[in-house]
Amino acid sequence: MVLISHPIVDKEGTYLGYIGGVISLKEPNILNSMLGEHYYQDGSYLYAVDQNRRLLYHPDPKRLGTVVKGNPVIDRVIHGESGSQRVINSQGQDMLAGFAAVPTARWGIVAQRPTAVTLHPLDNLMLEILRQTAPLALLTFIGVWWLSALISRPLWQLARSAGEMDAPTSAERIQRIRSWYFEAAQLKRALKLGISLLHQRIGKLNLDAQTDPLTGLHNRRGLTLALDALSAEGHSFAVIALDIDHFKRINDNYGHDVGDQVILHLAQLMTACSRGADTLCRSGGEEFLMLLPNTSIESALRVAERLRQCVEQEQIAPVGHITISLGIAVWPVHADGIDRVFKLADGALYRAKQQGRNRSEVAELDRDPTEDSNRDG
Ligand code: GH3
Ligand code: MG
Ligand code: MG
Repeated sequence: MVLISHPIVDKEGTYLGYIGGVISLKEPNILNSMLGEHYYQDGSYLYAVDQNRRLLYHPDPKRLGTVVKGNPVIDRVIHGESGSQRVINSQGQDMLAGFAAVPTARWGIVAQRPTAVTLHPLDNLMLEILRQTAPLALLTFIGVWWLSALISRPLWQLARSAGEMDAPTSAERIQRIRSWYFEAAQLKRALKLGISLLHQRIGKLNLDAQTDPLTGLHNRRGLTLALDALSAEGHSFAVIALDIDHFKRINDNYGHDVGDQVILHLAQLMTACSRGADTLCRSGGEEFLMLLPNTSIESALRVAERLRQCVEQEQIAPVGHITISLGIAVWPVHADGIDRVFKLADGALYRAKQQGRNRSEVAELDRDPTEDSNRDG
């Protein structure tokens, strides 16, 4: 039962008594007719509680008058709050609740609706939105993918080329990359510049490694490479080994620097007296080797003599005239092994020194002369 009373006062405010009425909660009453009309078929319902959490109205008549504990919505509404909240009801059902406090009576009215029922139209709406937007999203995705592939392609190609910068074809490969936007174009430019500097540097280092710094002729490494090339191409060649006569005296009389100038001068005479196909090498201090491809013994001897006479006649300040001795051997006429041919040329040079210097000597044949006559020429 709920007893409702109200004081009665006259015009002067004198208390005369009170009027009271009773709502019998279990009989049909005003709460039933007001709140029951909101009873929907989808599981929504309303209920009312007093300040002691006691149910004054509930669609389930069995629960009337019971006290509800542990319900956060009821806790809030009896403290005068109004609002909304998601809540699990006493049946363990997920509900959305809206609640309002009635301040004069300190009651609370709560409307609840199952969350699933509330959200169900949203699910359909979401599916509909998805269905409507999916083609556009797919198109956008494909567009983004295509655009990003277009943007990343030159970067990827440049990165791959950057990893192989020392390859001989790297410059051409980078040239072919289509860098269609500013940043890629700048990267490509920088990479091309770097590669050209790198190749220049490698080329210079290679050349330095094969060149004698004083004379600019090949050193022993350069000679080895030239020999590899000659034997790979199957060319025969003549070797002329030459050495300056009494060079120690030049050093002793004029100093080491003048000695160097004489060596340089001789290198220039050798260059002037040889053909472009010949390989000229400074093999040691004042010792040189000449490789003459496809040259017979006679021709090599002629070249040696011409150089010897040329040196002999040259006036080299402040030393005056110098002479050289030369030894000649031809591969494969003199021997099958290339090393052996070099030794034979050296031996011939030694013989030239012994026989008075300023002369050219041809190596003695290692083999049967009849065999050689077939090869020579
Ligand atoms: P030979 O006629 O028997 O060849 O007499 P040589 O005095 O020339 O004797 P040898 O060839 O054995 O001596 C070479 C000398 O050359 C020894 C060394 O002092 C000198 N020499 C070696 N390398 C250089 C160099 O790079 N510069 C200069 N200035 N002198 C060098
Ligand atoms: Mg010497
Ligand atoms: Mg010498």
